[in-house]
Amino acid sequence: MSSGSGGLDPNSACGVAFGEVCVRRFQQFSSATIAIPVRSLKSIRLASNAQAAACILEVDQSVFDDLLAANKRYSKAFSLAGLAPRAARELAVVTCMDSRIEPLAMLGLVPGDAKILRNAGGRVTPDVLRSLIFATSYLGVKYVIVMQHTKCALTLLSDDEVKARLRSEDLEVGDQPFLTMSDPDSALAADVGLVRTCRSLPPEISVEGWRYDVDNGSVFRMVL
Ligand SMILES: [Zn+2]
Repeated sequence: MSSGSGGLDPNSACGVAFGEVCVRRFQQFSSATIAIPVRSLKSIRLASNAQAAACILEVDQSVFDDLLAANKRYSKAFSLAGLAPRAARELAVVTCMDSRIEPLAMLGLVPGDAKILRNAGGRVTPDVLRSLIFATSYLGVKYVIVMQHTKCALTLLSDDEVKARLRSEDLEVGDQPFLTMSDPDSALAADVGLVRTCRSLPPEISVEGWRYDVDNGSVFRMVL
């Protein structure tokens, strides 16, 4: 991609997957005000505040304001002070980021009971294994459930479709796998296998693969 009239090189400017989008939006809105807070973009290596401002011009900041107002109410009634960091029920649940899933409520758990690891699909990735190492070695976890679910978007898409979508929107594809699941049962079994065979996890931990039904709230033990 050309750096354009703004003289911005997207590769060195952002250095992240959506960097090129930021630059395009900067070019689109380059005449707009830059007096917009950039705190939320601090982790991105942007060449200037102007670029950062351009990246968030399309974001409705009132969303964050509403959340912070809600947090003020939450903190006034806060009741979890002093909760131990160890998982009281010695449990970790790997599950999908799907907003229909309530990992604690569906299993009768409360804050403090379990470590909840979420990502798209509830897939066992290197980062999930990294978290499980801490959970088992330092935070009391002895039981791991890989909890995938029905009607998961990752079972309805292929990696090629995801890549095509990104390309159609002129977004960077990168080289990471998207871990879509054409065969959910096989994917769940493979993910449980990854936890069981991870040599950085204690061999005595108990690992199962479950599936949550988003239509009726039921959980099924799929991989024992
Ligand atoms: Zn899902």
